[in-house]
Amino acid sequence: MAIQFQDISREKSAALFETAKNFFPGGVNSPVRAFKSVYGTPLFIERGDKSRIWDADGNEFIDFCCSWGPLILGHNNDEIREAVIKQLPNGLSFGAPTRLENQLADLILSKNKYIEKLRFVSSGTEAVMSAIRLARGYTKRDKIVKFEGCYHGHSDSLLVKAGSGLVTFGETSSAGVPKSFADETIVIGLNDTKALEEVFKTFDNQIAAVIIEGVPANNGLLIQDPAYVNFLRKITKDHGSLLIFDEVITGFRLGFQGAAHYYGIQPDIITYGKIIGGGMPVGAYGASKELMAEISPDGGVYQAGTLSGNPVAMAAGIAALTLLAQEGFYEKQELKTRGFVQTLENYIKEKGYVVQIFTIGSIFWFAFTDKTSIKTAEEIDPKSMESYKIMHRALLNQGIYFGPSGYEVGFISDAHTTEDLDITIQAIKHALDIVFQ
Ligand SMILES: *Cc1c(COP(=O)(O)O)cnc(C)c1O
Repeated sequence: MAIQFQDISREKSAALFETAKNFFPGGVNSPVRAFKSVYGTPLFIERGDKSRIWDADGNEFIDFCCSWGPLILGHNNDEIREAVIKQLPNGLSFGAPTRLENQLADLILSKNKYIEKLRFVSSGTEAVMSAIRLARGYTKRDKIVKFEGCYHGHSDSLLVKAGSGLVTFGETSSAGVPKSFADETIVIGLNDTKALEEVFKTFDNQIAAVIIEGVPANNGLLIQDPAYVNFLRKITKDHGSLLIFDEVITGFRLGFQGAAHYYGIQPDIITYGKIIGGGMPVGAYGASKELMAEISPDGGVYQAGTLSGNPVAMAAGIAALTLLAQEGFYEKQELKTRGFVQTLENYIKEKGYVVQIFTIGSIFWFAFTDKTSIKTAEEIDPKSMESYKIMHRALLNQGIYFGPSGYEVGFISDAHTTEDLDITIQAIKHALDIVFQ
């Protein structure tokens, strides 16, 4: 039976998108925004407040995309807004040090036992790109190992996917990346100890670093066994390679000290982004004092940024992280998320629907599968995304905004109230009824 949708009005967004196509490739400034994997065209957002956003047609949504993770305190948070407003009359950027950089760094480093020094940059991509350079500079080795299903931003070395065969050089996953760059990046599957052992056997003394997302959350939510992450720590140490945790999502999300603390594992370099700037463009990478001494001007690894550590972004970051550092903040988010997921799981079980909700901290992911655990990208059935598309459309029509791709996770913020979550639960139940009708 063909599904009958009662679609909300989206004409004004559609018209803005038509105009945007004249200005930007695909009408957007970041590809996933183009709604290619879901029904319709992108919603143009006019404003956000707490858990809600409003689009150009005046539709109101409870937002679970949260700008792809940064907005753990919701939209228009009072403290962040006031901190930004307070900074504005003093100037937007100087390209000279300010005390705000010290304040944000102190706030982070005094509560994070996994890094001793850090460097602020302006995006997650920049943080990871710089971390890779640091690893190469420090180890004087060129190759890096990454995992299929992990995203680390759009720098050349990391836009590489697995080639054919167990241990091969990667293939570029974007046009414009030189093949010689891909030759320095080895890509293997997650949760595969044998493959990594093989890599270290084949390329012993050549691997600068192994990089993994704190918890892979860019291609579904691929929660790894702690034993596997411990294995990564051990094998890298045994071979003189560095372990990089890309915590651009998990940093300040799984707890103030991110995935490193969640696993109780000391990586060599950690990258941050998203939440760290309270909604402003900030990234960072951090490591031991010894490693960070390699960065210019102390050391020979060059890395710079005109707007790095700019005072407005720092002010937003300080306000955000001050709130996150409060006792019980993360427990509260996790409890809320668990309750939300549990209620939905009960309904799914009662109805016998083939869908799982994977969750960790305040992150959740809907997977239309009967598998009760998914640890690798390979285990995700691309065909299951058809069901997500239907759910996504049914949710938008009920005022619930999820990320426009079934590979994207959802985020619960401090601004989501019990009432918001109750409304959302009812909407999701209805959306699932439509998917499985
Ligand atoms: C978002 C993300 C990046 C890239 O960050 P940008 O700020 O988009 O450049 C890198 N790594 C991970 C794990 C991410 O989630």
